[in-house]
Amino acid sequence: MSVNQQSPLTTWVEVPENSDFSIYNLPYGIFSYNDKKPRVGVAIGDYVIDMASLYKRGYLDVLFLNENIFKSPTLNRFIGLGKPYWTQTRKRLLELLDRNNMTLQLKKDDVAAILIPMTKVQMHLPLHIGNYTDFYSSQEHATNVGRMFRPNGEPLLPNWKHLPVAYHGRASSIRISGTDFHRPQGQLMPDGATMPIFGPSQQLDFEVEMAFVVGRENELGHPISASDAEKYIFGILLFNDWSARDIQKWEYVPLGPFLSKNFVSTISPWIVTLDALEPFRCTSPIQDVPILPYLHVEGKKSFDIQIETYIKPQESEPSLVSLTNHKYLYWNISQQLAHHTINGCNMQIGDLCASGTISGKEPNTFGSMLELTCRGERPITLSDGSIRTFILDGDKVIMHAFAQKDQIRVGFGRCESTVLQIV
Ligand code: CA
Repeated sequence: MSVNQQSPLTTWVEVPENSDFSIYNLPYGIFSYNDKKPRVGVAIGDYVIDMASLYKRGYLDVLFLNENIFKSPTLNRFIGLGKPYWTQTRKRLLELLDRNNMTLQLKKDDVAAILIPMTKVQMHLPLHIGNYTDFYSSQEHATNVGRMFRPNGEPLLPNWKHLPVAYHGRASSIRISGTDFHRPQGQLMPDGATMPIFGPSQQLDFEVEMAFVVGRENELGHPISASDAEKYIFGILLFNDWSARDIQKWEYVPLGPFLSKNFVSTISPWIVTLDALEPFRCTSPIQDVPILPYLHVEGKKSFDIQIETYIKPQESEPSLVSLTNHKYLYWNISQQLAHHTINGCNMQIGDLCASGTISGKEPNTFGSMLELTCRGERPITLSDGSIRTFILDGDKVIMHAFAQKDQIRVGFGRCESTVLQIV
């Protein structure tokens, strides 16, 4: 449902100013609390709505669901109901939470059983992720990396402006925000050496990305058109595609990254629906090379979402190191999905398609340390005075994203994890 033409939405739930989870948002996640098993939740303010409890107490009858699918440990079954159900559920939640609607707010016992304080919950991986695809859709990022990895060639390879370049990543190592991990190790070829060595990555990096969640399947052999693509997308979340640059540099030719990327990726716990992102639609960057008809899109297919990235050393406060925006992507999500399936590839509910590192034109908008420090040649100074070329043991990388237009604010929560020393 679009909120563009509506009068301002209000709710009886107390929502702190600048909360990521305003009444306009209502993102989905999987959470547990007390002795309850993981289940579907919707965030509002500092609370999580226990959707299974809301259903059990009879507030979702209007949806004609014949079983309590909100008790599931992943969102796949709910997502599989289809877009009309996503939109209808949102509409019902907006009714129940409306300041002027007394249906739920006067039933204090029900409210206590349904609104769970965020401080009491644990978030879980929200999806069964069958497949993960990593695009490479930021022109600025691809250009910056091309210059560094192929200093004697054209920064953008000839295919780049004709198709959204991507590779298939590893789904099994995608982890929920808050999951720490050990520094990866592997084969490294130091500059000037003639034989590779084995050891911990010395160039551990983050990649600022956002991923869309596939919400509808297409049959094998049946491409999804660019104009229909959004009907197949449930929502968007933050994605840190951790990368070991020294391992990557040695291994990536000719088939692309492998062990430099698949040791872990971190996602934010809340999936923000496309319905919630309606007010933040914007035009995509001008595509200055003619593209084939199957990639053509009409209208506003990009989203104006600010993304902040911080490094927090073990003993210090976080320092802001990157401020970028989802709208910088040269290839939008509709084009990505159309391209992904044009050969007949079948998408599955819960598949994740990450954007690729999002960089803008200005140096402070770069979405990786590789670019921010020019491959380690220009270290950056954090607020505690320490310097970084890449990520050190004990550092926490925190990403936070939000969209704001007038009084409407829709946030993504935090995507964070800490790098641990190899034991
Ligand atoms: Ca990536």
